[in-house]
Amino acid sequence: MIEINGQAGGGQLLRTALALSLCTGEPFAMDGIRGKRERPGLLRQHLTAVEAARDVGDAIVEGAQPGSMALRFSPRGVRGGQHRWTIGTAGSTTLVLQTVLPALWMHGVTAGLAIEGGTHNPQAPSANFIAEAFLPVLARMGLEATFNLESHGFYPAGGGSIRMDLRESGRPAEVHLLERGNMIERHALALVSAIPARIAERELAVARARLGLAGDEWSVHEVRQASGPGNALSIRFGTEHGAAVFTGFGQKRVTAEAVAERVCAEAKAWVEAGVFADTYLADQLLLPMALAGRGSFSTLEPSDHTRSNAALIEKFLPVEFTFRDEGRGRWNVAVDR
Ligand code: ATP
Repeated sequence: MIEINGQAGGGQLLRTALALSLCTGEPFAMDGIRGKRERPGLLRQHLTAVEAARDVGDAIVEGAQPGSMALRFSPRGVRGGQHRWTIGTAGSTTLVLQTVLPALWMHGVTAGLAIEGGTHNPQAPSANFIAEAFLPVLARMGLEATFNLESHGFYPAGGGSIRMDLRESGRPAEVHLLERGNMIERHALALVSAIPARIAERELAVARARLGLAGDEWSVHEVRQASGPGNALSIRFGTEHGAAVFTGFGQKRVTAEAVAERVCAEAKAWVEAGVFADTYLADQLLLPMALAGRGSFSTLEPSDHTRSNAALIEKFLPVEFTFRDEGRGRWNVAVDR
């Protein structure tokens, strides 16, 4: 039984522990879950991640109640097949997907996953980020899967859905993502649901000015079927070897211009550093690369979030991460056995 102190981080530590427990068959006990958060313990979206992991791992679980700060999780195998999970709030569907995907991949099973909830949430990878930045790297590592954003779900109404169909894939293969190559495509997409399209136009005006986008490098998508109002600005850069996606979310009392300025600043920092992975992708690549046993990528300065995630992965797997500052905002993250 691996003992983990959850005080050191947020929901990510829990999801990483669930994912690795499923991959390795190793049970774990976590206490102090989200201990330093304003509303500590398990929230609805964390509980759905636990439920999903329990279903996939046929696991024995103790402590999976709202607000619980301690959880014991003992998996008994990995089950493919058809699964459907409903978060019931705008909790992030993509974070639930990332909890169970590594084990289904590692164990070479076929599976169909349908997850309902938020698809474009603050503080989580958007469905666009998953489709355009995250999954292409996993495909290079050997994952065979299709992903669909079936309907949009914005915070706070949720009600969107994503679907993934996994085929039997070989085990994750080592990759080294040090150079991103030339920029081949840029696109700013403003999504609006049940709010005026001029919000999207104001965001795009900032993006055009800050990033120098041409007329065919931006678009507005008015989402018709979402359960509630919402707005996201998603800026995508396609390069020779991958893609980066930066997302901002409209919020009450924050101007459209302020939302767009923040996303553009994130995007420009990545463009100028010349690295492969942005800070969030860096976070999310640690686990698949550790499963491969070896790998590396260039990125921006790693966040505390990334470092605490790496330390947890080292508890489950016989690997070691190194973080090397290469100067001028460029870092190298490597994992090895
Ligand atoms: P808590 O509320 O306890 O902090 P949480 O589950 O809401 O927990 P985090 O632990 O912060 O959230 O994890 C959020 C995850 O979402 C991380 O993997 C992070 O990389 C990812 N993420 C956050 N914002 C973005 C973004 N704009 N684009 C892509 N990924 C993101």
